Amino acid sequence: MKTTTTTGIEVTLTAKLGYLDRPTVHASFAHPKAGQVEVDLQGYGKIQGKDAAYGDFRGQTVALMIPQADYDAVQAGADSIIETAIGAIRSGATRIELRWSEGSPLSGYVTVTKFASQLLRDLKIARDISGWGCLVDEKAAKALGESFTYAEAVAYTQPARELEDAAVAMAAAHRAEKIAEAAAKGSPVELRAWTEPCTSRTEECGLDVCVETIDAQGRTAVRRSHTW
Ligand SMILES: [Zn+2]
Repeated sequence: MKTTTTTGIEVTLTAKLGYLDRPTVHASFAHPKAGQVEVDLQGYGKIQGKDAAYGDFRGQTVALMIPQADYDAVQAGADSIIETAIGAIRSGATRIELRWSEGSPLSGYVTVTKFASQLLRDLKIARDISGWGCLVDEKAAKALGESFTYAEAVAYTQPARELEDAAVAMAAAHRAEKIAEAAAKGSPVELRAWTEPCTSRTEECGLDVCVETIDAQGRTAVRRSHTW
């Protein structure tokens, strides 16, 4: 898009993905003194009391007094770059490509296709490793191969989703049953029990027995017992 600053400089604005794939408005213009300027804009606001888009150019802040509507329109276009890319992966137009990344201390499969990692994360076959990036489950990568469609990933993860749904449904049914039991009995009943490492600093015990009870109103409480 072409726009003009209040001082009469013609600026070309383009939508792009900038640093860390952030949707960014890029400005390109010829400055009477500085020559050709290419700058990734960082935002729009008041710069020395004037409405302007601003960015960093050779260590200095550049303020461009262009209409905010123009800046916003191009920013919206930049935002849609990611949506479009994700839409293309979802529809199968863009395949998901993986590659093995050899690293220290971690090696693993990563996505080559931009923005595929967030879709795989949602399908629970990829996870973020802090300071490293997004790692794709090795088992899933081996099963799906290094190039596959989103639909294939959805089909691959379907059984796990069904198991999870079944577990959630079972837990809900168990809870409803216990609430009914508590209502019939007129007092709380045991919902579940488990053991975990002792939380007390003073007791000489290794394992605590925890019992969660539930009453007729669905209110739960955990009772912890030390073991000797
Ligand atoms: Zn204990």
